[in-house]
Amino acid sequence: MREEDFIRISKDNLKKLLKKENLFDEYLERAFDKVPREEFFDSRNRSNAYQNNAFDIGFGQTISQPTMIFIMLKRLEVRKSHKVLEIGTGSGYLTALLCELSHFVYSVERIQQLATLANQRLNKIGYTNFKIFVGDGSKGLYEYSPYDRIIVSAASSKIPQSLVEQLSEGGIMVLPVGGLEFQRLLVVKKIGNTTNVKEDVACRFVPLIGEEGFKDEMFHKS
Ligand code: SAH
Repeated sequence: MREEDFIRISKDNLKKLLKKENLFDEYLERAFDKVPREEFFDSRNRSNAYQNNAFDIGFGQTISQPTMIFIMLKRLEVRKSHKVLEIGTGSGYLTALLCELSHFVYSVERIQQLATLANQRLNKIGYTNFKIFVGDGSKGLYEYSPYDRIIVSAASSKIPQSLVEQLSEGGIMVLPVGGLEFQRLLVVKKIGNTTNVKEDVACRFVPLIGEEGFKDEMFHKS
């Protein structure tokens, strides 16, 4: 079978799974259809793009599992008028979905090489409504705040206060919070001066490394 045919068939199968798991609404289904996930894999691994797995993208990081991405997006309720902050660009796949769903995406990635690659891939597909920044996203991105929606693809032990501050009134933030091994997805809604925090599914993300996440020193053995 030609690789392109294999990719098309596995995309159809993954779509059926996401539908069965009730992870689509009209916006999410359209975004899934439009974004070529295989473009976020290197040429050797393209045929793995539509397996429902996380996948190694180098530098100890992973492209998130499709079902987890769509659980997060369903909770996030992104609309075309929204300004979104994404922490942990990684491969850029979720950034592409957010470009389809929102008005503009500000995305922060800690690792320069991943940011550069994601930027190239998103440009190649033709997205223009995003900007990637290299830095510590655990502190958010104050410059363009507040954001209607914030999505974090790396785990912290508590909700970073800067991110709460940079969320708009009525805004929604989705993020994994817990230990280094396992976490729980939290859905945070900002209402006036208070936040409403709902615990969602169990999950497993790479650590958010930074000032309001896990400290970098923890990962260097002496
Ligand atoms: N949704 C992405 C997930 C990438 S994994 C995808 O599907 O490809 C999480 C990413 O968060 C990694 O690339 C990691 O380098 C990044 N990261 C970790 N700590 C960070 C921080 N403090 N600021 C910005 N990015 C961070």
